[in-house]
Amino acid sequence: MLKQAFQSVKRAVTTSANAAKEKVDCVVIGAGVVGIAIARELALKGREVLVLDSAPTFGTGTSSRNSEVIHAGIYYPQNSLKAMFCVRGRELLYKYCSEHEVPHKQIGKLIVATGPLEIPKLNKLLKCGTQNGVDGLRMLEGFEAMKMEPELQCVKALLSPASGIVDSHSLMLSLVGEAENRRTTFSYNTTVIGGHHQGNCMHLYVSESKNVGNWNGQSSLQSELILIPRFVVNSAGLSALALAKRFVGLKSSVIPPAYYARGCYFTLANTKVSPFKHLIYPIPEDGGLGVHVTLDLDGQVKFGPDVEWIDGIDDICSFMNKYSFFSLLILFSVIYDLLHGLYSRFDYSVNVNRAERFYPEIRKYYPKLSDGALEPGYAGIRPKLSGPGQPPVDFVIQGEESHGVPGLVNLFGIESPGLTSSIAIAEYIAARFLR
Ligand SMILES: Cc1cc2nc3c(=O)[nH]c(=O)nc-3n(C[C@H](O)[C@H](O)[C@H](O)COP(=O)(O)OP(=O)(O)OC[C@H]3O[C@@H](n4cnc5c(N)ncnc54)[C@H](O)[C@@H]3O)c2cc1C
Repeated sequence: MLKQAFQSVKRAVTTSANAAKEKVDCVVIGAGVVGIAIARELALKGREVLVLDSAPTFGTGTSSRNSEVIHAGIYYPQNSLKAMFCVRGRELLYKYCSEHEVPHKQIGKLIVATGPLEIPKLNKLLKCGTQNGVDGLRMLEGFEAMKMEPELQCVKALLSPASGIVDSHSLMLSLVGEAENRRTTFSYNTTVIGGHHQGNCMHLYVSESKNVGNWNGQSSLQSELILIPRFVVNSAGLSALALAKRFVGLKSSVIPPAYYARGCYFTLANTKVSPFKHLIYPIPEDGGLGVHVTLDLDGQVKFGPDVEWIDGIDDICSFMNKYSFFSLLILFSVIYDLLHGLYSRFDYSVNVNRAERFYPEIRKYYPKLSDGALEPGYAGIRPKLSGPGQPPVDFVIQGEESHGVPGLVNLFGIESPGLTSSIAIAEYIAARFLR
């Protein structure tokens, strides 16, 4: 097995070395909402930007598999990147949506305590949100909240008037259009399979996604092009950590461990009128914000996401560490990832049986939910930097000062509130790292 892998490495290296080379200004890897917002920001700063995405179009990953909630900034520790980007990002997002006619609505949210034991947690959230600068937070008695939402059952609730919903596809479409109008090129079906650091620049190995998909592991994998950008942002979402491991020259010590948590949604069947006008959230659970009620702009009611920890490619790391062939590890991981179908390994199916766990969770705050009312919706996967039972970890944004590679910015663990934060993250990256 190991011998085979080394032979494969040799083949892949040879092929990469023969590929054509091209110098470019800025490359953004990943056309999710964060990558697109960064591309737009760089373009607004007058830079020439190339966005590469392995999928056939933009926003097919986590950016189209979330709750589409504009978060206020309540949950995150004071001074964390999540808190700062969420609060700033929310302001920028509402402004952007209003100015560019992106459908959105500031419908407000109720975080509910369904028993007396949860009240201290609600008080903590109020304190945290207030410290983060979230305006308008107000603690409500149960009867006040239930007057606002007659289907709700709770003993206390935290009202967050700043929370809202956004049509994430329209948002991405608008950002893409703006970026394209300012000399940004989007190249889809284009996979960055690895890279190395040489001199002052990153060299990115680029391949057509269909060649990656069709590769049988026996012949050479064609890296058709080596791009040499002055500035590169690794915004590859769920694959950002795996990709960074395939950047030869990037110290493995700067790459945090990856964890993945799938979240499934169920929709309310046969319901024309939503039982709720606000977003309704329970107290957060380990790994997520709890199975909440989200409304989309068409009035459809969604419940979710739950938290299901799933295996990821970190199994590969532990295997590699065991053998400690350090110089070949990164290239070995390229081969391993590709052999194991890196680009199709995320399972977005919703298991109908998971509904059984949803009913009791939802009925804690929505007791009238009838049997059989839930239908499978969709699923998303959180790119997490902490595992089950571990405290939540902040977004990680690494520039040269963290990893020593000039012109490279890595974005790791951009889970919720990444959608809300997207424009603020872009603003920060341009201000902090652009040379
Ligand atoms: C269940 C769930 C619910 C959420 N709810 C909310 C919410 O309500 N509000 C909120 O603010 N946030 C929410 N989030 C978080 C938010 O959705 C994400 O933070 C955000 O979408 C991340 O965007 P991204 O651009 O970083 O990643 P992605 O959208 O995953 O984009 C990454 C892109 O990189 C591409 N790519 C990957 N590897 C390569 C490669 N090697 N070469 C080229 N391209 C590559 C992929 O094809 C993909 O298009 C939620 C997340 C989840 C999972």
